[in-house]
Amino acid sequence: MFFVIRGSRIAAFLCAAACLVIVSTIVSGEERNQAVLAAEDELRPATRVVVIDAGHGGADGGAVSDDGTTEAEINLAVAKKLEAVFDLLGCESIMVRQENLSVHSEGVEGLRNQKVSDIHNRVDLVNRTQGALLISIHQNSLPQVRSVHGAQVFYNETEEAAGLAGTVQAALNQTVNPGNEKQKKAIDPSVYLMAHIEQPGILVECGFLSNPQETERLKTEAYQTRLAVTIAAGYFQYETRDSEADRSHEG
Ligand SMILES: [Zn+2]
Repeated sequence: MFFVIRGSRIAAFLCAAACLVIVSTIVSGEERNQAVLAAEDELRPATRVVVIDAGHGGADGGAVSDDGTTEAEINLAVAKKLEAVFDLLGCESIMVRQENLSVHSEGVEGLRNQKVSDIHNRVDLVNRTQGALLISIHQNSLPQVRSVHGAQVFYNETEEAAGLAGTVQAALNQTVNPGNEKQKKAIDPSVYLMAHIEQPGILVECGFLSNPQETERLKTEAYQTRLAVTIAAGYFQYETRDSEADRSHEG
């Protein structure tokens, strides 16, 4: 069974003011106007549904920091904030999971089988959602080089995903990577979810749990909100650019 729960309007309302302030500070000038107008006028394709995937969950905690913080819990916290921002701006979204649980099917026994079922269910959810665009939230870890930090965006083999990864990476470089700018990157084909979805998908590695300073930031609500709003801002910038390109083709 899937854990698919629609957005919480209460959570969206509570973070509304903070989100709008941050959105307007991370995009500027003409771009800012475009992004805000896009949100207000709902220029996005009517069928677009953002599938927000909090990576890992349940017995699969993903990467773990020195202090025991699991990737799965940070992923979920950022994903929930991203859902709230999209809900606030009238963008339809679906959460793959709302709890710190695996999304394997009911009745599947054994960790290995549950992990396989979990990833298949994530793929199925994206592929059977019309107009889906996947944003998968993860945290990185590189214990061999603990100084490495920062957010990086990976994309699957679709034209849309490469473009979206570009605007989201640019936004993250402004807000959380100053002096530590990173490049978007094509995802390794071994990442099952990203290789098997038929729609555009990006995977955001928000930070490194192997870096103690970044881990402390990732654990705070403020930093999680900054990440979520930045990702959403990059998304809306991309969608706006799409709409303008469509109009110029028509004209
Ligand atoms: Zn992960």
